[in-house]
Amino acid sequence: MQDDLLAAGRLLREGRILAFTGAGISTESGIPDFRGPDGVWTRLDPADFHISRFVADPEIRKRGWALHQQGQLWGARSQVRPNRGHLALVDLWREGRLVGCVTQNIDGLHQAAGLPDEAVAELHGNTRRARCLRCEQTWPTETVLEWVDAGAADPSCPNCGGIVKTATVMFGEMLPQREMERAWEMASTASAVLAIGSTLSVWPAAEIPARLAADGRPLVIVNQGPTEMDHVATIRLEGAAGVILPRLVEIAEGM
Ligand code: NAD
Repeated sequence: MQDDLLAAGRLLREGRILAFTGAGISTESGIPDFRGPDGVWTRLDPADFHISRFVADPEIRKRGWALHQQGQLWGARSQVRPNRGHLALVDLWREGRLVGCVTQNIDGLHQAAGLPDEAVAELHGNTRRARCLRCEQTWPTETVLEWVDAGAADPSCPNCGGIVKTATVMFGEMLPQREMERAWEMASTASAVLAIGSTLSVWPAAEIPARLAADGRPLVIVNQGPTEMDHVATIRLEGAAGVILPRLVEIAEGM
């Protein structure tokens, strides 16, 4: 492990790193992942996260808004805070070693830790904003929560009456095209990829590390448990992101 840490630290020092993050980087902030041993899929039905159910069933929407209102969905009213893993990536950015962070996460913790918006591409959207599914108008999620506070359990668009939903990508929805383009722009300037806390199994997001690795760029994986790309990883570091990332950054800075 120590040899692998040193080798990975060397890569971080010499390279222009693209960070690719998944739900695992936020578990140490108290947000469950989907597919880990304590993941959401051990308790909930993934079909409830499909856009067709959200559109068809007002009860699902009411339940979702009530959870947001109570701050339970790591959105506008959430108390979750970034952890040492998020902060280590900010250190890399400040050192000029990070070309950007492509994240599958919707929790906004990379920005809360200190990465500027332009350094983060949110492939699966975020909970900070909400939008009308019909006319596409957007609002800060907090604005919609004020409508919920005022009694609209399933708020609809004040302009066109359409269904309102947070700007997160559910199963069955397209990925935000602009964020995908930004992610590929960041990837095009990277000399190596640091994949953190992801099973690397959700496509098309996972195409980014897969393509860079296929192009011969080193892929360092930091994860607890196996991933779909372990066989193509240059270095694989098993363990908690909040423990490994600060050590990696320390090694890179001390070289
Ligand atoms: P995933 O749930 O498929 O995989 C997470 C991986 O991280 C697992 O292998 C798990 O064992 C590992 N892990 C858990 N805690 C870790 C830690 N402290 N350090 C290192 N590894 C750790 O996650 P994914 O690949 O991101 O795909 C899940 C999808 O779910 C994504 O599309 C994402 O949008 C969404 N999601 C997001 C959040 C969030 O925003 N925080 C939370 C849950 C799910």
